[in-house]
Amino acid sequence: MKLTNNRLYLDFNATSPLSPAVLEWLSRGDLLYGNPSSIHHSGKRSRRELAETTEYLFDLFGLSEREFQLFFHSGATEGINTLVKGHAQTCFEQQTPLNFFSADTDHSCLVNLRPTLKLYGHQVYPIEVKSSGEIDWSELAKGPLAEESSPRLVSATWVNNETGVALSLDELVALKERTGARVHVDGVQAIGKLEGWKKLRPELDAYTFSAHKFGAMKGVGMSFVRRDFPFAPLLDGGGQQGGLRSGTQNTDGIYSIQLALRGLVEREDPAALKGAHQWFENHLTELLGDAGQMVGTQAPLRARNTVCFILKKARADNVLTALDLAGIDVSTGSACSSGAVRPSRVLMSMGHSEQEAMSSLRLSFSPLTTLQDVQEFATVIDPVLKRFV
Ligand code: PLP
Repeated sequence: MKLTNNRLYLDFNATSPLSPAVLEWLSRGDLLYGNPSSIHHSGKRSRRELAETTEYLFDLFGLSEREFQLFFHSGATEGINTLVKGHAQTCFEQQTPLNFFSADTDHSCLVNLRPTLKLYGHQVYPIEVKSSGEIDWSELAKGPLAEESSPRLVSATWVNNETGVALSLDELVALKERTGARVHVDGVQAIGKLEGWKKLRPELDAYTFSAHKFGAMKGVGMSFVRRDFPFAPLLDGGGQQGGLRSGTQNTDGIYSIQLALRGLVEREDPAALKGAHQWFENHLTELLGDAGQMVGTQAPLRARNTVCFILKKARADNVLTALDLAGIDVSTGSACSSGAVRPSRVLMSMGHSEQEAMSSLRLSFSPLTTLQDVQEFATVIDPVLKRFV
C-alpha cells in the first residue's frame, strides 16, 4: 500500500505531500537563491526560471498574456484577499460601493472577508446553495446581481474543498454574459481532480490557485487576472511583479509549481481516478448502509478525489481519532475552536441538520490514485468504520 511517512494519507484537499519531481529537485540542492530583481548572474537565473514558469502556466491553462496578467503570492488566502478587497478598493475610489456575491460554502478566506467589505461601505450578498451543493445561477441573475448601475463581483468556488461538488465554468460565463457582473474563480481544489481543470475560460475575470494543493511548496500560489479587471494591490513595497504584489518573489516555491504541474500532467490518468472514486463510493455506501449518507453525490460535476459522508450514529471527531490511531489521516467537516467542536458550515449551508454537520468525514485522494489503491485503502479503513455503523 502507498504510505506517506508511514501513514495512509487521505487528506489531499487539506494539503498534498511534495510531488516526486519537486522532492528530486530539492534533494539535488540546486535552488534559486538569487533575488530575481538582482542584475548579476544568480539574479538573472532566478528571473529566467520565473519567466519560464509564467510562460508554462499560460500555456498549460490556455490563457493569453495579451488578455491576462499572472502574479504570484503566498497561498490562495492572500491571492483572494488581494483580488476581492483590491477590486473593492477601486470601487471605493470611484465612490461606487461594490456589490459582492459569494456562497457560505466557500472557503473561510472568502466568508471572513465579508465584514471588512461591509466596514468600507460595500454590500455583501450570500449566494444560496442547493442541497446538492449546486448553485442556481439563473435565479441569482434575477436579483441585485442584474442591477447594472453598480459594480458587481461574484466569487465562485470551482470545487468545494469539503464535498468535492464542482461548478461549471460554462455556467459562470453565461452568468457574466447575462448580468455583466465580474467573476472571480477560486480554483484551489480543481487541479488534477476535475475533468477539464486545464481549460480556463478567458471570458471570466480572475482565477486563484494554491501550490501546496497539487504537490508544490506551501505558502505560494498564483492568480490569473484579466487586464481589464481593476484591483489595488494588497501590499505596498518595492513594486515587484509590475506592482501587483510587492515583496521579493518566493523563487523556489514558484519554480516548484512548474515542476509539480509538469509531473502531474505527465502522470495523471483521469479515467483511472474516476473509476477508483466510483468504486470507493459504491463500496462505502454498501458498507455504511442505513448508518451512512453520502454528501454531494447528486451534483453532476464533482471532484474525482473527494468522498464526503455522514455517519449518523457517531460524532466525526470520534471517528477521526479512531482512524488516526489506525494510521489513517482524514478530515472532518466540523471544526474545533477553543476546545469546542463546531458543526460544518458547508453542510449547514446545504441544509443539513446540526447533528449531521457534526458527523461528516472527508477522504480526499491524490489525483494519481488507482482502483488497486482504493481497494487496498478499504482493507484498512473498513474495520475502523464498522465500529461506528
Ligand atoms: N480556497 C479553497 C477552496 C481552499 O480549499 C483553500 C485551502 O484549503 C483556500 C482557498 C486557501 O488556500 P491557502 O491555504 O493556500 O491559503
